[in-house]
Amino acid sequence: MEGAQSPRPRDPMSGAQPLGLILRDGSRVGIVGGGPAGSLTAYFLLTFAQRVGLDLGVDIYEPRDFTTAGPGGCNMCGGIVSESLVQAMAMEGIDLPPTVVQRGLDSYVLHTDRRRVRVDTPLGEKRIAAVHRGGGPRDVLAVKWGGLDGHLLNLAQDRGAKVAAARVAEVGWDGGRPQIRLKTTVRTYDLVVGASGVNSAGWQLFEQLGVRGTRPRTTKAYITELHLGDDAVSGLFGTSMHMFLLDIPRLDCAAIIPKGDYLTVCLLGQDIDRELVTAFFESPVVRRCFPAGWQVEEGACHCSPKINVGAASRPFADRVVLVGDCGVTRLYKDGIGAAYRTAKAAAGTAIFRGVAAGDFRHHYWPTYRAIARDNAFGRLIFALVHGVKAFPPLLRGTLAMAADEHLASGPARRMSIVLWDTFTGSAPYREIFFRTLDPRFVGRLLWHSARAWNGAADTTGRYEGAKEAGHG
Ligand SMILES: Cc1cc2nc3c(=O)[nH]c(=O)nc-3n(C[C@H](O)[C@H](O)[C@H](O)COP(=O)(O)OP(=O)(O)OC[C@H]3O[C@@H](n4cnc5c(N)ncnc54)[C@H](O)[C@@H]3O)c2cc1C
Repeated sequence: MEGAQSPRPRDPMSGAQPLGLILRDGSRVGIVGGGPAGSLTAYFLLTFAQRVGLDLGVDIYEPRDFTTAGPGGCNMCGGIVSESLVQAMAMEGIDLPPTVVQRGLDSYVLHTDRRRVRVDTPLGEKRIAAVHRGGGPRDVLAVKWGGLDGHLLNLAQDRGAKVAAARVAEVGWDGGRPQIRLKTTVRTYDLVVGASGVNSAGWQLFEQLGVRGTRPRTTKAYITELHLGDDAVSGLFGTSMHMFLLDIPRLDCAAIIPKGDYLTVCLLGQDIDRELVTAFFESPVVRRCFPAGWQVEEGACHCSPKINVGAASRPFADRVVLVGDCGVTRLYKDGIGAAYRTAKAAAGTAIFRGVAAGDFRHHYWPTYRAIARDNAFGRLIFALVHGVKAFPPLLRGTLAMAADEHLASGPARRMSIVLWDTFTGSAPYREIFFRTLDPRFVGRLLWHSARAWNGAADTTGRYEGAKEAGHG
């Protein structure tokens, strides 16, 4: 259903629009949540409606003011927009202006306890964007940027969506149609879209509206924004995303992402707690990235948001559909990309097919399930990463293979492409997994690992210490 372009199917006998639950002229859609999933659903609903000449009203309910700095304006995320999403949005005419993109990233640096290796965009044209989600960290002196969420919400408004600055706490039914009830107003809709993410009590609203099945599974992550100033951020971290493969229990993935004057530090794994955060910052591998004697400032903006690690089992009911994190997302990466895909597929179904549970099952669920199924490969890949971390020759072989590829170009950069796509979320996990089964990939990795076993690989590659790359 992704990218639905076809007109609504007509009855083959009469040529009439199907009866049943469909959106008609004057229909109204209420969207609970104005993060990326909610704003993009509004954007696509109104774009597709215009395409078929449908007069549609769309209200977005969003309590946050994305122009303010600090937690009140922020949807808590690493802020990497994958290149596949940058490209997909550009094809829809959705550009990310320089005021939103804090830094274009063209490489990543992989840090382990023995060495670090820089991997440039494997196929030349690749770029990813680092953004803030709101007005910036709470200690920011002046809000100089626009955040991604505010930008997408503005796009939806430009298309005609109305935004109500309110948190939805009550819903109900009115003659077979869902209602959103605020303190002073009650509105009846032809479709309610759930886009409330996983960091609020939004799900119980959708259960009241008839969505059955299990809620998304979540775990706790950690993010902090560190102010270093533009010169230090550029000098120490450049235009690279920094990934850390450290042997710290429960830590699956750690990243430092340079943005303007700040660094975003993002830790993902199983129930990240204070002990794990301290272990990360005290690790010598992390310490050597910062100036000598540097300490995390007391009071730095930080949060422990929940992250979706398992999809809700049934994301729809008659006249109700869930998009983005409150339904399904990509494991650890490219959640904004998943919000985009589910938003577009749900909006396409509602406009071109109908808003009954059966319509969402047939035309929205395939996109949704494809994301959930791909995460099974993601789990396999992160298990492999754990295995590689635990077996030093394999880890050294992995780094040596990536470093050795810097003179190669295109598909010959097998390890670089696998690592790039894994850490940036730029390709489906399934695709990445099957690339690691290629005999040429396995052969090269075993060869480098055997050399590492014999102590030879540590002299391979140009990025030992990464100083030549201008980092550190
Ligand atoms: C630590 C961490 C790092 C991440 N890093 C990245 C990354 O680098 N790149 C990436 O692509 N993804 C990343 N993600 C995932 C990404 O943040 C999410 O996938 C994405 O935000 C999902 O968008 P959404 O609109 O579904 O939900 P959200 O962004 O959570 O938005 C939900 C919105 O709903 C609103 N809301 C909630 N309840 C109500 C209510 N009752 N009434 C009205 N409004 C309501 C909230 O205020 C919020 O604005 C990360 C996530 C975490 C936790």
